[in-house]
Amino acid sequence: MIIGVDIDNVIADTEKELRNVLLDTWGIALDREDISDYALQNMPGIQGDVLDGLIKMFAEGDIFLRLEAIDGAGETLRRLANSHELHLVTSRPEKVRPQTVEWLKTNDIPYHDLIFSEKTKLNGVPYELFIEDQTNFALELAESGAFVLLFDAPWNRQLEHVNIDRVYTWDDVRKFCFPPCAIGR
Ligand SMILES: [Mg+2]
Repeated sequence: MIIGVDIDNVIADTEKELRNVLLDTWGIALDREDISDYALQNMPGIQGDVLDGLIKMFAEGDIFLRLEAIDGAGETLRRLANSHELHLVTSRPEKVRPQTVEWLKTNDIPYHDLIFSEKTKLNGVPYELFIEDQTNFALELAESGAFVLLFDAPWNRQLEHVNIDRVYTWDDVRKFCFPPCAIGR
């Protein structure tokens, strides 16, 4: 099957590095739970020069090289890539492809396609399973008929849909994709 996987806050711990940058550069201390909306301009205390600085930092892209991989992502994705077509689909701008490719290589994250798409995750691809954290994209995918594993985050707590299961760790994803006692196998 074709499986789609988001990068930021699913494979890479972008939110943690964002909070580190806010503290180190501007002295703004945010807890993860403070981020109830992932749009930068809607985060508490992010406006004016701070917002401009963050937008510039993300557009230049080197921040993406410093991200930590989320525990268990690489291991489970390598296992999935053995028997499925794996598309990494990110809403990062195409301009940061070089840093993204370098980070994926450094962290041994496999993929068959890497798609930069800011407004939609679908692009006409019939995804059967998609791993995502953003509310708007998860809903778009679920309504298209894809089954979504939604990485739990304060910015997606309100979202529920018949085609969405909430996961908390890559261990949850692994158990969903490789159930040890699957009936019929
Ligand atoms: Mg994301």
